[in-house]
Amino acid sequence: MLKKKIIIGTNNVGKLREIKDLLPKNYIVKAPKDFGFKSPKENGKTFLENSLIKAKYFHKKSKMICISDDSGLEIKLLDNQPGIYSARWGGKQNDFNLAISKVYKKLSQKDKNWKRKKIKAKFTCALTIFGLRKIPIQSVGISFGRISNKKLGKNGFGYDPIFIPKGKSITFGQMKPKFKHKIDHRAKAFKKIKKFF
Ligand code: IMP
Repeated sequence: MLKKKIIIGTNNVGKLREIKDLLPKNYIVKAPKDFGFKSPKENGKTFLENSLIKAKYFHKKSKMICISDDSGLEIKLLDNQPGIYSARWGGKQNDFNLAISKVYKKLSQKDKNWKRKKIKAKFTCALTIFGLRKIPIQSVGISFGRISNKKLGKNGFGYDPIFIPKGKSITFGQMKPKFKHKIDHRAKAFKKIKKFF
């Protein structure tokens, strides 16, 4: 049987790894970097809008089915920042240590005793599949949890070392990737649309 091709519409290595892990094995998986495609401007106001922008863009460029993800961390005490700006807090180099320092700095400015409190946060992932059906297929998944007052763990990417999901006592950064990929916001969003493949 001829294998279908799919492009994962992201230049973020961490997301690429996770989505690859979730996709059915009967697909040939490509990434924008295989063709030298840069990412489009994300000028949507929501995770869903930005996810659609990326899926449409990479589908048009590659002529392949595209699955793209827009995601981010929302911290309640920071009025849901960084939200859709989660990647941008890492600056031009996408430096996650810089983004985490910014979170800690803003939390200290807001409440100097934050380290002794439960800082509620959530990760949202919006997925879009473009080019598989006549209309785009979209879904959203959420991981609820809290912010760790220390960076813990070397696994994963982004804000993983400071996010402790609800019901667990370790950060995403301390979890084995295979485990995180089964329970996180991306996995939850993917579960809702995997029937379309
Ligand atoms: P974007 O969707 O490419 O705009 O970027 C999403 C950003 O949110 C990433 O660069 C990370 O900083 C953060 N993020 C999204 N999902 C995760 C996750 O599962 N773990 C850690 N950070 C994440």
